[in-house]
Amino acid sequence: KEELNIIQGALELRTKTVEDVLTPLNDCFMLASDAVLDFNTMSEIMQSGYTRIPVYENERSSIVDILFVKDLAFVDPDDCTPLKTITQFYKHPMHCVFNDTKLDTMLEEFKKGKSHLAIVQRVNNEGEGDPFYEVMGIITLEDVIEEIIKSEILDE
Ligand code: ADP
Repeated sequence: KEELNIIQGALELRTKTVEDVLTPLNDCFMLASDAVLDFNTMSEIMQSGYTRIPVYENERSSIVDILFVKDLAFVDPDDCTPLKTITQFYKHPMHCVFNDTKLDTMLEEFKKGKSHLAIVQRVNNEGEGDPFYEVMGIITLEDVIEEIIKSEILDE
């Protein structure tokens, strides 16, 4: 029974898209690029429990960096280090994908190992103005694996 479920989940990777499983932008825990790594901010980051945190400039739809919580290992909250100092030091590459990317393709990308988190964007051509890229949310390897095993992975 369980095995059948997994096989079915694996087969569906070819038809489902990243849009079906992403974490919407509104639900993402993110930081503003001008944040200061004081005690408050560091506590919020720790309490969020996430290992990777998108960093946005001005508005949440404009993601400019990814902070890895492990980047904070040598940061002392008493120093009130600007977040920019850390992001500019590590410069983790951002990995963007389009909303219609199929989950099997996404899995292959994740397996290549660059980053296990990708920013999902779509082309917004509604309305009057020119079409533009719009960030919809984020997707991680865990989201894809949950589709295969068809159940939530509870976080530690
Ligand atoms: P983590 O290692 O931070 O727990 P995972 O890759 O295991 O992240 O993903 C667990 C779930 O949390 C996934 O559904 C993913 O989309 C979501 N997620 C990952 N990072 C964030 C974040 N910064 N804000 C909100 N959701 C996130």
